[in-house]
Amino acid sequence: ESLDKGLEKTKESFFSKLGKAIMGKSTVDAEVLDELEGVLVSSDVGIETTLKIIQSIEERVAQNKYLNTSELDRILREEIVKLLAAEPQPNYTFSLPEKKPYVMMVVGVNGVGKTTTIGKLASQFHKAGKKVVLGAADTFRAAAVDQLKLWGERTGVPVISHGMNTDPASVAFDAVKQAVELNADVVIIDTAGRLHNKVNLMNELSKIKRVMQKVIADAPHEVLLVLDGSTGQNAIMQAQEFTKATDVTALAVTKLDGTAKGGVVIGISDQFKIPVKYIGVGEKIDDLQLFNKYEFVDSLFK
Ligand code: GDP
Repeated sequence: ESLDKGLEKTKESFFSKLGKAIMGKSTVDAEVLDELEGVLVSSDVGIETTLKIIQSIEERVAQNKYLNTSELDRILREEIVKLLAAEPQPNYTFSLPEKKPYVMMVVGVNGVGKTTTIGKLASQFHKAGKKVVLGAADTFRAAAVDQLKLWGERTGVPVISHGMNTDPASVAFDAVKQAVELNADVVIIDTAGRLHNKVNLMNELSKIKRVMQKVIADAPHEVLLVLDGSTGQNAIMQAQEFTKATDVTALAVTKLDGTAKGGVVIGISDQFKIPVKYIGVGEKIDDLQLFNKYEFVDSLFK
């Protein structure tokens, strides 16, 4: 129900546009498909992914000779679900794989909601009875370190920090080491996302990984890229840069509340084949949800 609320704007816009696209039409013809293409593009699904969806529907129309517009909803849902890489989470809970401590490295450019997402994750894991350690390795912004500390205080989770302008890799090393010593279940490392210099970004993230591996050989177990869903296609460009710089294994898409660009989740998922694991639907601590593709698609069509 909170997902429906979180996606309100996307849903409203998508649904009303879709309604207009098929108004007065009984069969799916070239004109309806043209309209549909416009609806998908304006919901920020992205051109490539939109064309893929349109093509699949065209093929289905060709196969069946005839397709009723009343069936368009169902068919569109099926095509979108196919493109969403994420698997539904077992039991829909914030669970952790059998690695102790589970090492998460969180990447993303400033302002996308990285620190907030880490705070929300810490809170969810903490509530689930897990021992959490945070590492403030975004040492280029005093605000980032302070904010992470604040989230730590709020949730009662220790934050490892060396202050501003210290070596991020050394913070990451200490955080992972502390997590081992404290017998923590999960350690979440915030990193700086300075995209303006790709070589630097790549070097910095590699260095952070290398030092973590001195403590835990197969760390990090998860590299979570945080993207701001309200920036639409910009989020796709950032995903392109980060996937070049490091092996991103999961995505969090934030700020889906208050935007009509929720379709970007479909485009991102299709283009990068990296599962969207979490979505941010508000500024409050509980406004983070596990992404479930069936629920997501359902809420678009409700
Ligand atoms: P960072 O620079 O990437 O660490 O970004 P922050 O975590 O500081 O977040 C930047 C702003 O986005 C803050 O004002 C957050 O409250 C806000 N924010 C983060 N996630 C969400 C979300 O899911 N929805 C909304 N509406 N705001 C969010």
